[in-house]
Parts: sequence; structure tokens; C-alpha cells
Amino acid sequence: MASDHVDVLIVGAGLSGIGAAVHLQRNCPGKTYTVLEARDAIGGTWDLFRYPGIRSDSDMYTLGYSFKPWTNPKAIADGDAIREYVRETAREHGVPAHIRFHHRVVRAEWDSATARWTVHAHRDDTGEDVVLTCAFLFTCSGYYRYDEGYTPEFPGVERYAGQLVHPQHWPEDLDYAGKRVVVIGSGATAVTLVPAMAEQAGHVTMLQRSPTYVISLPSRDALADAARRWLPAKAAYDLVRWKNVVLGVANFQLSRRAPGLVKKLLRRAARGKLPVGYDIDRHFSPRYNPWDQRLCVVPDGDLFRAVSAGRASVVTDTIETFTEPGIRLRSGAELPADIVVTATGLNLLALGGMTIVVDGAEVDLAQTVAYKGMMLSGVPNFAMTIGYTNASWTLKADLVATYVCRLLRHLDGTGQQVVTPLAPIAGDLAPIIDLKSGYVLRAVDQLPKQGPSAPWRLHQNYPRDVLLMRHGRLTDEGVRFSRAGTPATDGAAERPAPVA
Ligand SMILES: Cc1cc2nc3c(=O)[nH]c(=O)nc-3n(C[C@H](O)[C@H](O)[C@H](O)COP(=O)(O)OP(=O)(O)OC[C@H]3O[C@@H](n4cnc5c(N)ncnc54)[C@H](O)[C@@H]3O)c2cc1C
Repeated sequence: MASDHVDVLIVGAGLSGIGAAVHLQRNCPGKTYTVLEARDAIGGTWDLFRYPGIRSDSDMYTLGYSFKPWTNPKAIADGDAIREYVRETAREHGVPAHIRFHHRVVRAEWDSATARWTVHAHRDDTGEDVVLTCAFLFTCSGYYRYDEGYTPEFPGVERYAGQLVHPQHWPEDLDYAGKRVVVIGSGATAVTLVPAMAEQAGHVTMLQRSPTYVISLPSRDALADAARRWLPAKAAYDLVRWKNVVLGVANFQLSRRAPGLVKKLLRRAARGKLPVGYDIDRHFSPRYNPWDQRLCVVPDGDLFRAVSAGRASVVTDTIETFTEPGIRLRSGAELPADIVVTATGLNLLALGGMTIVVDGAEVDLAQTVAYKGMMLSGVPNFAMTIGYTNASWTLKADLVATYVCRLLRHLDGTGQQVVTPLAPIAGDLAPIIDLKSGYVLRAVDQLPKQGPSAPWRLHQNYPRDVLLMRHGRLTDEGVRFSRAGTPATDGAAERPAPVA
């Protein structure tokens, strides 16, 4: 068993973990840190997913880091370009030397007497168990299970003679040229896969139980193209980033305040890109309001183009059963398929599946309340990165990392060692993720809660969070700073968490 101590332990070497390491190096140069990564690569999501067409669905001016301009001309970028951007960032800042690959963190135990975490990791490659200690634990472990995507139980699936594929485990050698493909799903993955596969496949059918809002955006940003010619790279990047932040916030606010109007606008935009007489109400008009679930972006209308060209089609129906040659639908229709892709989603997983223990008591995440969307009530010296649901993940990840650095400097500056969030005294609690998507609803009872008002409420609003997290006070009624030796529960008894 190897043992080691660092000031900050970062869990995960994806987009967030690499960003966290760079922020830490720049803002707290004296701190020692290590990144523990379960896999053998940098990049997380952008290394794991390898299906045809894999790309971002937000623009890279906001999905990129605040400190590293995105200079690729594509605003909605391919997965391999994003992976390379994350790796390049890591290399430029010497982060790889701090990463221990093949280390899956399984358990972290806080001890108030020493003000230290003892972190247990398992090495999948050697079978060894490794123990490290740290003063601050920073999880950047994403939000879903890596080993298994979500697949509902389809009746009769064992009879199906074709090939069944989940996008999370894409077979490298899958040959779909000329084949009949059915993609089950209507989310971001399905709308990416369908036009990409339609370029080679005989025909691709997107089979959805119910529609999703799909919006076409240009894959290049005209302002970015112009700004890059006239301004230094960082100034051009900041300009486009803020333009997209403002547009994103405006779009979200309009959807919340005038959902009927936004529905009409989305419908009209889809009608302009689909053949005359196409049944938009059936296939592209969801029953829920825009932003109750994430909107699906298609670059340059690629999905609509594939449908208009007859290379792809959308079927809105329910699966009755799989058959030997394909799928029978409740309407009685048959969908023959050589390949079925189950783009049916992710399994949500909080904190990379690790167990958190504070002074000997296991923490039930569902009983905790998130403080500023990034720390947990009753859990000292701990932060987690969960990105926005209505904007690019990295906008929030950057703010969380900046805030952690401010906290660490504040602790050092005041001669204290421990920061512990407290739960709100009163008010209703709500799930931390406010989307009504299937993958959220399936796991909602395992997730932390959010409180009724700041600093426990997530406003999902980047400009507001910039004020709160970059410039706001570090000391408020939601947090306690103390010296080593203060029990984590001290003072918590007078502040019982309200019931959800
Ligand atoms: C297909 C797909 C497309 C997406 N597109 C967008 C988009 O366009 N815009 C957007 O804003 N968001 C998007 N997202 C969300 C996306 O996950 C984030 O943008 C971002 O990649 C998250 O980065 P992360 O580093 O926080 O998490 P991840 O990318 O999930 O990386 C987490 C890392 O932590 C490691 N890890 C996990 N648990 C442990 C553990 N216990 N011990 C050690 N290591 C661990 C993992 O191996 C992984 O390397 C997308 C998600 C998916 C699945």
C-alpha cells in the first residue's frame, strides 16, 4: 500500500479536473496536488464516447476554459477536437505529471481531529489498493456511470438477429455502410448519430417515444470569424464567450417567461428546414415546455437535411417488441433493422460512486444540501463540480475552481484549516438537478438537494454566479470556518436540515 499527502486531491482528469488543476496552479501556486483518474486517459466524456459524429452541442466559446481561447473555426466541435483541446491544456500547464491513472477513488474519510481526508483508491490495472491523505478533496468526476449506459428492458430483445449497440460502448469496427439502422432515442446522442450514420448507411430511422425540441445553429460563429481577424485571440474569445452567455441567458429566460412563444418560434424554425407537409407536430413538437429538458442542437440543420433528403426518417411510436428482423411498433408497423443503436441515455452517478465518511459516519448524499451548487452541508473541505443544465458545463466548472482557490487562500490568510457548509435553517428543498429528463428522474432520490434561496439555491445563471462566486463574500450564514479539531457536526444540531 502506497501512502502520500497532498494539499488538494482532485478526482477525475476530464474537462473539469484538468481545468481545476490549472486554476489551482495559477491561483494557489504553493499548493501541492494530485489528480486521481480511474481510466488510463485524459478527457473523460470526450475520450470515452467514440460514436460517429460525436460532437459538442454547446458552442466551444462557452464550453472552452476561461483561460484558454478556443481557436478552431468550428463553434460546435467534434469530439476528437475537444479531447485534444483538453489534453493540450493539460500539457501546456504540466498537469500530466500530477495525474495517477488507473486510480478509482472508492472511499474518502474525513477526520476533524487532524483536518484531513484519507482517500482510498483501487487500481484496476494492478489490483492494488492505494491510500492518500489530503487537506481538501475536489471531485471532478462527472455525473454518470462510465461502465454502463442506460438501456431499458425491451421485450423480445433476445430474439433480435441483428446487431445491438449502445453509443457508450461503440464497437470500433462497426460497419454500417449500406445497412438499415434504427437509432432508438430522441436526445442529443440520437440527433447526433442519425445524420452522421446516414452519410454511409442504407437508411437510418430515429425511433422516438416522444419528441424533443431540436434547434439548428450554425456550426461556425460569424462574430468569432470576424473577431479573430481583428483582435488578439484572447480578446476575440472573451467577446464571443460573453455574446453567447448573454444569448443563452436571454433564450432561457424567454423560454421560462413565454414558453408558448418560444414553442412557436422553434416550430417555425423546424418547418423552414423540413419538406412541405412534414408532420412537425408529431415528430418535433414535445408536450413539455422548452428547457424542462435540454434543447437539442443540430449544427447547420444536419438532422433536418438528412430527413429532407430521405436518408433518414423519424418515427414517433412505442416499441411493442423486438422481432428477429427488427422492431414491431405498437401501431402495428414493422421496422426491419440490421443494426439497432440504443441511444437511450446515461445512468446518473454522483461523485463517481465514492463513499463519503465524516468523523466515522457515512454521508447520505440525499440528506445533504448543496452550498453554492459546489459544496455539501456537513462535509468539510470538500467541493464538487456539477456544470449548468441550461448552459455549457465549463462556465460553472471554471467558477467552482476559482471559488475553491479563493477558499484555500482565505483559510491560509486567516490561519484556519477547515471550511464546512451548513444546511439552510428553513425552507423547501428541491433536487439539485432541475431537469425533468429521464436520466435525472431515475436517480433524483440519490442526489443532494438545493435550498430555497442563496447561497443554497442554484440559479443556473452564469452572470449572477460570476458575481456570487468570483466576487461575492466568502463568509456568510451558510458556511463555517474553523481550526483543525472542531468536530464537523459542531453547530449543526441547531440547524437541522429542512425536510424535502
Ligand atoms: C455525449 C455527451 C456530450 C456532451 N456534450 C456536452 C456539451 O456540448 N456541452 C456541455 O456543456 N456538456 C456536455 N456534456 C456534459 C459533459 O459531460 C461535460 O461537458 C463535461 O465533459 C464534463 O466534464 P467532467 O470532467 O466534469 O466530467 P467527465 O467528462 O465525465 O470526466 C470525469 C472523469 O472523472 C473520472 N472519474 C469518475 N469517477 C471517478 C472515481 N471514482 N475515481 C477516479 N476517477 C473518476 C472519469 O474516469 C473521467 O475521466 C456532454 C456529455 C455527454 C455524455
